[in-house]
Amino acid sequence: MKLKIVEYPDKKLREKSTKVKEFNSWLHKLLDSMNPIMINTNGIGLASIQIGIAKNILILNIPNEDGEQPDENLLEIINPVLSNQKGETTYQEGCLSVPSFYEDINRFETVSVAYQDRDGNHHSIEADGLLSIAIQHEIDHLNGILFIDKLASSRRRKFEKEYKKMLKERKHKGK
Ligand SMILES: [Zn+2]
Repeated sequence: MKLKIVEYPDKKLREKSTKVKEFNSWLHKLLDSMNPIMINTNGIGLASIQIGIAKNILILNIPNEDGEQPDENLLEIINPVLSNQKGETTYQEGCLSVPSFYEDINRFETVSVAYQDRDGNHHSIEADGLLSIAIQHEIDHLNGILFIDKLASSRRRKFEKEYKKMLKERKHKGK
């Protein structure tokens, strides 16, 4: 599969993803092709809507302390359901679909997530730290929500200006 990251303000990112019902080779191929995109772009998470596929599919790979993202850190999460949201934390988030922009975002500190793996088996995990933040960020994507939607309105306006400028400059450079 040849895949490209969908970038803001593409309306595709606002689409609500739907449940995966078949855990077949199409799903496996999709997951296998999402992983290198995430790793090569230094992402820690990627939802399938970010490559234009509106399904409840996301992958995560939280780096080790040395910054490496070994395959054993890879989490494939299908049809996630969040519960047990507790506490509060702030982290400077970025998004592969909103390039070159980072902003402090408030999230729950810990969450539980029930999900299925690529073969449809059911699992649940409790997440804290960066994993918890990344899971919440990616599940937002499945609901058509971006981290910039959480900015206060004055900051959001500033972002829109800066982002437009960035897109213009990038176009100019022919990238
Ligand atoms: Zn994102």
